Amino acid sequence: MGKIPESHPRYFSLKTRERISKAMENGITHKTGLIAHGRGEAFDYLIGEKTLVYADDAERVAAASLLIAKNPVLSINGNVAALNLKECISLSEFIPTKLEVNLFHRTKERIEKIINELKKNGAKEIYGKKADANIPNLNHDRGRCDIDGIYSADVVLVPLEDGDRCQALRNMGKTVIAIDLNPLSRTARTANITIVDNVIRAIPNIEKWARKLKKLDEINLEEMVESWNNIDMLQNTLSFVSKRLNSMF
Ligand code: ATP
Repeated sequence: MGKIPESHPRYFSLKTRERISKAMENGITHKTGLIAHGRGEAFDYLIGEKTLVYADDAERVAAASLLIAKNPVLSINGNVAALNLKECISLSEFIPTKLEVNLFHRTKERIEKIINELKKNGAKEIYGKKADANIPNLNHDRGRCDIDGIYSADVVLVPLEDGDRCQALRNMGKTVIAIDLNPLSRTARTANITIVDNVIRAIPNIEKWARKLKKLDEINLEEMVESWNNIDMLQNTLSFVSKRLNSMF
């Protein structure tokens, strides 16, 4: 791959592509992860490649939800490992949350590679290797999880989720926070709190909010979470996108 000049108008997007394709060559990201990334890029384009006020709100409520959780877990897949592993570790240490590797195309080798990458970047305890439990009624590998990790979590933060697991986690009574640039996906419509933002911007912004909210009483944080209306947020996001498109030419 040739060097991308910093003056290129799509520099950040091209560098991100480069990162994710390198991660695929290194066996961290699955090849289908590149397709998922492409869909994400398309939706990012539609929202203007910045954090909308609705996403910022969702990131604030997500931070509140993580702070009051008894046993929160941050789920890591191949795309997240490629794009913002350090930021995930930092958030998980600040809240604190457990980290668990969970893959749709699960192989022992890829699980180990991602765990090693997390360890290299300072993560101490990582769940997901044992996979000694199954999320009920989920007949693919994303259903495999650790009893002491996702299985027993009360709040799960799932960047780049698939709709099936999101629903199955909700059926287990868990609070699901999803990061998904596609406001129309099953995941976006199923999660308790959906963050329609790029995972690259979302994770540090959740941490920024968590730092601000840490001083608040639990009761204030609970109120924030209870008053959250996910459907309103999705409608506001879609109406922003349609107005934006209508006013372009
Ligand atoms: P669902 O089952 O929820 O309808 P899907 O099967 O369409 O989802 P997947 O292919 O499992 O979706 O996951 C990819 C999702 O992740 C897409 O909706 C895409 O918009 C989103 N996505 C990809 N890259 C990013 C990113 N960097 N930040 C946030 N979301 C992203």
